[in-house]
Amino acid sequence: MSKKIVIVGGVAGGASAAARLRRLNEENQIVMFDRGEYISFANCGLPYYIGDVIQDRQKLLVQTVEGMHQRFQLDIRNLTEVTKINRAEKTVSVKNVKTGETYDESYDVLVLSPGAKPIRPNIPGIEEAEDIFTLRNIPDTDKIRSYVDDKAPKHATVIGGGFIGIEMAENLRERGVEVTLVEMADQVMTPLDREMVSPVHEHMRLHGVDLQLSDGVDSFSEKGKRVHLKSGRVIETDMVVLSIGVVPESSIATEAGLETGIRGAIRVNEKMLTSDPNIYAIGDAVEVLDYVFQEPTVVPLAWPANRQGRLVADIINGRDVKYNGTMGTGIAKVFDMTVASTGWNEKRLKAAGKEFEAVHVHPGSHAGYYPGSTPVSLKLLFHPTTGEIYGAQGVGMNGVDKRIDVIATAMKGGLTVLDLPDLELSYAPPFSSAKDPVNMIGYVASNVVLGDNEVVHWDEIEGLVKGGATLLDVRDESEHELGKIPGSINVPVNSLRDNLDNYSKDETIYVTCQVGLRGYLAARILRQNGFKVKNLSGGYKTWSQVKRDFDAIEEGTKTAADETAATATKEAPQAMMNEPVGEPIFLDTCGLQCPGPILEVNKKVAELGEGETLRVLASDPGFFADIEAWAKKTGNKLVSKQFVNGRVEAILQKGNGPAAVPAGAPAADGASMVVFSGDLDRALASFIIAQGAAAMGKEVTMFFTFWGLNVIRKPDAPEVKKQGLEKMFGMMMPSHAGELPLSNMNFAGVGQKMMKKVMSDKNVPSLDEMIKSAQEAGVKMVACTMSMDVMGIKEEELIDGIDLGGVAAYLGAAEGGNLNLFI
Ligand SMILES: Cc1cc2nc3c(=O)[nH]c(=O)nc-3n(C[C@H](O)[C@H](O)[C@H](O)COP(=O)(O)OP(=O)(O)OC[C@H]3O[C@@H](n4cnc5c(N)ncnc54)[C@H](O)[C@@H]3O)c2cc1C
Repeated sequence: MSKKIVIVGGVAGGASAAARLRRLNEENQIVMFDRGEYISFANCGLPYYIGDVIQDRQKLLVQTVEGMHQRFQLDIRNLTEVTKINRAEKTVSVKNVKTGETYDESYDVLVLSPGAKPIRPNIPGIEEAEDIFTLRNIPDTDKIRSYVDDKAPKHATVIGGGFIGIEMAENLRERGVEVTLVEMADQVMTPLDREMVSPVHEHMRLHGVDLQLSDGVDSFSEKGKRVHLKSGRVIETDMVVLSIGVVPESSIATEAGLETGIRGAIRVNEKMLTSDPNIYAIGDAVEVLDYVFQEPTVVPLAWPANRQGRLVADIINGRDVKYNGTMGTGIAKVFDMTVASTGWNEKRLKAAGKEFEAVHVHPGSHAGYYPGSTPVSLKLLFHPTTGEIYGAQGVGMNGVDKRIDVIATAMKGGLTVLDLPDLELSYAPPFSSAKDPVNMIGYVASNVVLGDNEVVHWDEIEGLVKGGATLLDVRDESEHELGKIPGSINVPVNSLRDNLDNYSKDETIYVTCQVGLRGYLAARILRQNGFKVKNLSGGYKTWSQVKRDFDAIEEGTKTAADETAATATKEAPQAMMNEPVGEPIFLDTCGLQCPGPILEVNKKVAELGEGETLRVLASDPGFFADIEAWAKKTGNKLVSKQFVNGRVEAILQKGNGPAAVPAGAPAADGASMVVFSGDLDRALASFIIAQGAAAMGKEVTMFFTFWGLNVIRKPDAPEVKKQGLEKMFGMMMPSHAGELPLSNMNFAGVGQKMMKKVMSDKNVPSLDEMIKSAQEAGVKMVACTMSMDVMGIKEEELIDGIDLGGVAAYLGAAEGGNLNLFI
């Protein structure tokens, strides 16, 4: 027997249900009401039409009333509002919004998909305010777009930093409008945890969005042209977009006595059935079960609405299916960045008192040696002993979407973190790495679950160090110089084993590195030597991105306070040495990994005249932070830095030397190094440090002695006469840098070849290139005449540009410096 099915709402959930109902049954009568003119339009595309990214308005209209009627034989009544549900009579009362005509329509089965409406709070002055917009549908979009087109506003205030607020901020910036985004919480995008959202804040600021966090609107005045914030700040604006969230559009359901739950959402069971056996409800208007912990929740997103639309049609047609719950998997584009998450975040787990652990990784979106790789910052939340996955978050320029989607799939499949390393994911260099970031975070989390590694977090570490804990930073010295956690002690991982006697086994040692990997290696060394150790999850990178964000917020608060007090109206100019001279010189460092871009900049800036500018492009996102530290330390001016198509573009102006170093920064000083070893890896390390130190403005002297002399021998040295032991030494030793063995795992030269291959694959310069660039960077190289004599090495065998000297030369350099190393 055929049924009469009435649907309220003709967009995501309603239209999906209607189409599926027809596909399953040709006989049923299907009536779909929508009070709007348009059905099945692309809500999610609306902000991009305002930003003119989507230029053709027609493209937003996925289906038309006529088109859908023809294909599915639906009785579609748009511009018709359902005003009442008469459950006893099994009818709905409707009103034609154009003509005012009213009538009742009967149903056998009713499906409610009325969606959610933007919250419009009762803020003083809102009623008198003009040009205050919300965004839900096509007419809202038309209003905002024509306002931007016709009135060319200079400034917009977006209130609320959720998905829609962020998308509006971005699209208004696309239209050249200045944007202030006001958000009550201390962060935008609340599905993300604080440390994960920091790069998003930074990126938004970079794109000119004035972020006003931890602040709310107190009132509007001057017809909405002045926005008064709770902090006291007053924003002069031309338009306001209210995007502080949505509430379920459930009034007709409530008035009909249907059971409701959180935020007044319509309560349904797993068959999407309401408390009335003839009424189903789907989409943004319903309360669902959270997939992870099976608790009631409300998730206004398009996937649940579409999924439920199809399922409800199946259920009405007698199929034994059910809705399994919502994980809240979501994604947003924030200018050049992708931000995505699934499941529960740390804030929610903590608030609910759940036991959990979290890990962070920052691998490349694809193989580092293939152009265009950018880091993907991932966070995984899981049960510390069972490994059950509770949620994940991802931020980066590329490849974030697929990693979060893979983890969301793993969660739906009931996999644990121990299964993630075993996911066989597609790999070729342009797309991923043989260990995909999802595999990597699986390994890291598995190490925690299996007890091989313990982690400490970004928000705990400073307190621990202040309380007297030891924090070892196992990065190279040059990396530590560029930025460090206060109180950390620099012990590069390769020299950790030689320093174990310096630490106590009675207390927990904390370790950190750039992203957590070398920290993990250090943790394993320490642990196997009987130490208690915890590794900083996500390393210095995770910690420093929050630190930068907090610093920016503090700086912004100061500026806002100044504005409010109407003092110091103009921002103090940065220490400008002089007027820029000529057009900027261009330097492309794309493809080089840290510290390559900094070294190149250092070299190039040295060639510039005072006041000249340099425009640098780098694909290594770490350059974004490094360049600022470098400029500060070397007394050059960072004029601007921004992401352009996922790359960092920095403009620098050559300073006037040490006098321009900011007060408090260490003056350019010396570094000296005794290179005693003739091992390839040790030689490489010495040149990396030397170049890093030179890049930081130090005067560097490398003193080559004994086996270290082989590092600076020429490959094409002329024949020189040697006698006796000199001759024997000559035969036993490598004849030039290209023949140096590895200190470990040399395996008769195989290890050395492997190292060279990996270096070349990863764009790390060869030792020869490093020697050359160190010389170009002004590193002074001295060969020890005494050991030349002992080893029978002649001056003609050494590469060009080497000074000869004795121990006095070394001691002179060492005394003038505050960094002396023996390698
Ligand atoms: C600007 C914007 C961007 C978005 N971007 C994304 C995104 O990128 N990703 C994502 O997952 N989600 C996004 N969403 C959310 C997504 O659009 C919703 O989750 C989804 O549309 C919900 O589907 P629904 O059927 O429940 O409600 P809707 O699609 O909103 O449809 C409800 C319809 O019911 C009509 N209606 C309500 N009451 C009545 C009544 N009494 N009588 C007749 N008709 C009625 C309304 O007019 C409306 O047309 C976005 C939403 C907006 C507004």
